[in-house]
Amino acid sequence: MYRSEIAVDLAALRRNCATLLRALNGAELWAVVKANGYGHGAGDAAGAALNAGAAALCVATVPEGLVLRRDQPAARIVVMGPATNREIGQARDARLELVVSGDDIPPGVRVHVKLDTGMGRWGLTELTSSPSLEVVGLMSHLATADSDAAYTEWQVERFRTATSAYTHLTRHIANSAGALRYPSARFDAARCGIALYGISPFGTDPAEDGLEPVLTWTSQLALVKLLRAGQSTGYGREFVAERDTWIGIVPVGYADGFRRDLSGTQVRVGGELRRVIGRVSMDALAVELENELPVATPVVLIGRGVLIEDHARVAGTIGYEIATGINSDPTRARRVVLS
Ligand SMILES: *Cc1c(COP(=O)(O)O)cnc(C)c1O
Repeated sequence: MYRSEIAVDLAALRRNCATLLRALNGAELWAVVKANGYGHGAGDAAGAALNAGAAALCVATVPEGLVLRRDQPAARIVVMGPATNREIGQARDARLELVVSGDDIPPGVRVHVKLDTGMGRWGLTELTSSPSLEVVGLMSHLATADSDAAYTEWQVERFRTATSAYTHLTRHIANSAGALRYPSARFDAARCGIALYGISPFGTDPAEDGLEPVLTWTSQLALVKLLRAGQSTGYGREFVAERDTWIGIVPVGYADGFRRDLSGTQVRVGGELRRVIGRVSMDALAVELENELPVATPVVLIGRGVLIEDHARVAGTIGYEIATGINSDPTRARRVVLS
């Protein structure tokens, strides 16, 4: 018996790329595959996105870029986070593009200069001099594209004004939310991550934006037992049966990425939505059943109508954190790629 299986549907990822390309209306799609492709597998996601028309790949760190470079000798790879001096040399050798937030432009590397238009994090407050020859792009990042339209439009206008003298450079500010909902934010390219994976940047049903979930996480009932009234399951006795209650134990826990704060969320057991009860353990969780079910009854933890967005709401977080937390290490789960 396997503990759980993570299936990644690259055809769905390609359809999400097509949806984004339609929304971008001529601007380039840059596929963000940082954090192991938001938990989906960076190499697989990168290949599928390039196949579907993405013009570049984006990662957060130079080491992520170096790993991608082995599979993708020709792709544009942009490293969005800061690099150490040693990493700048590695980026040069591997033809990675870097993002810089200061006046110090490393020689011999293609560079995107980042402007802080309101994120209040990385980036120059303003461009003081004309960008040097190494600079191929000007970029910024939106702080509220999922929540505050007025602030987003204000950031976009600040960016437009600050970069208007440099329209020969590639200008990019949009993330997934910006690409999907803000035509003014398109410029020359959009750096899209979460939407590639069919997860809503708005925390709503991804179908509202024409997106399809890419990842399905399944397991099965490893044990089925009857709790008599007054008996409990799990640490802390957080769930105590009020009446005789059938429960199922699923061999997936927080070390696999099924977080403790997902207690109370719903998963599909034999096709029916059932509640996760009690505390999630490191390697197991419990579900409440309506009746006795056979051992090995399939359990869908994510996918097939079980939305990451719903789990995120229960856990008080965002889909990004749920997805990047899934542990696809082969010692814990079997990973299957559907191309
Ligand atoms: C992660 C990241 C993105 C992608 O954001 P999504 O909301 O996942 O589309 C874009 N730009 C930068 C600078 C990022 O760090």
